[in-house]
Amino acid sequence: MFKIRSKDLGIDLGTANTLVYVKGKGIMLREPSVVAIQTESNKILSIGHAAKEVLGRAPKSVAVVHPLKDGVIADYTSTTAMIKHFLTESNKKSLMGGKPFVMICVPSSITAVEQRAVTDAAREAGARDAYVIEEALAAAIGAGLPVWEPIGSMVVDIGGGTTEAAVISLGGIVTSNTIRVAGDEMDKAIINYARKRYNLMIGERTAESIKIEIGSAGDLKDEIRKAVRGRDMVTGLPKTIEISGSEISNTLSDSVNAIVDTVRLTLEETPPELAADIMDRGITLTGGGALLNNLDNKLNKKTGIPVFIAQDPLDCAALGIGKALDQIQLFKSKG
Ligand code: ADP
Ligand code: MG
Repeated sequence: MFKIRSKDLGIDLGTANTLVYVKGKGIMLREPSVVAIQTESNKILSIGHAAKEVLGRAPKSVAVVHPLKDGVIADYTSTTAMIKHFLTESNKKSLMGGKPFVMICVPSSITAVEQRAVTDAAREAGARDAYVIEEALAAAIGAGLPVWEPIGSMVVDIGGGTTEAAVISLGGIVTSNTIRVAGDEMDKAIINYARKRYNLMIGERTAESIKIEIGSAGDLKDEIRKAVRGRDMVTGLPKTIEISGSEISNTLSDSVNAIVDTVRLTLEETPPELAADIMDRGITLTGGGALLNNLDNKLNKKTGIPVFIAQDPLDCAALGIGKALDQIQLFKSKG
């Protein structure tokens, strides 16, 4: 039988999505970081897409959990189970057997103890060995920025739980700031708005689709509207309302402003030579939040610096870990 020698894997363990990169094959798996658990027996019912499907639709006996919150492990047992499941799935897809060597990206703000929890979870899930790489660095590598050179590169990664703005030079993070405001916070703001303005209860998934379809960081040229279904809090019955893009952009403004402030703060903390590089080369946005309409324009207006959305922003961190697997000796000291 044809056998693949390398068993190196990269895992982008995100609060919203987990991606697995298999060396020599590319990204083999993209799944929501969601686990459905039977509450009484603690039995895991489904993981990933299948679990997200039941989010907001599950009976009381089933809890649908996000094992990671704000970029750190919120629930160790479900995190381990999720990593185990995804490793098995990608092994099947890529026809690899045996125990893989795993490199995982984590937010750079996490503590040594939390890092340890991540690598332990991977080992418990069957990894031969596990190392971590900072998420901002992985995202910058994946976005094709010249991270190894003595040139300042700025990446802003907007995920589900956290936004991180980081300046990188010579393969390391020079300054960075992380806030717990990103996609999830935007969804929450939409849920609150629908409740307060329309007495309408909507779920997480509906809020996310409103954000993706008509959400923006403001200044939309054409007004777009969307029919939204939920439960009327007064009558208790199902109800449909229409929401406009400008209502949603107002609703998202606190989150957007927090992201702008974090980028500005990080620029202020950047040494002048590197700041000059960033002026010339611009800021690169990665993570799913980079796709929010007009966020690039808003950041450009508020910083005076060119802003680019990375190609495939949702894939950047996983692709970056993939490239980093080839330079593994540079990272081994960090595990
Ligand atoms: P994480 O690394 O935390 O898992 P991701 O980089 O996978 O996060 O991004 C997920 C977030 O991006 C979610 O909050 C999702 O709603 C958001 N997102 C995805 N596509 C879009 C879009 N087109 N517009 C706005 N937000 C988006
Ligand atoms: Mg991420």
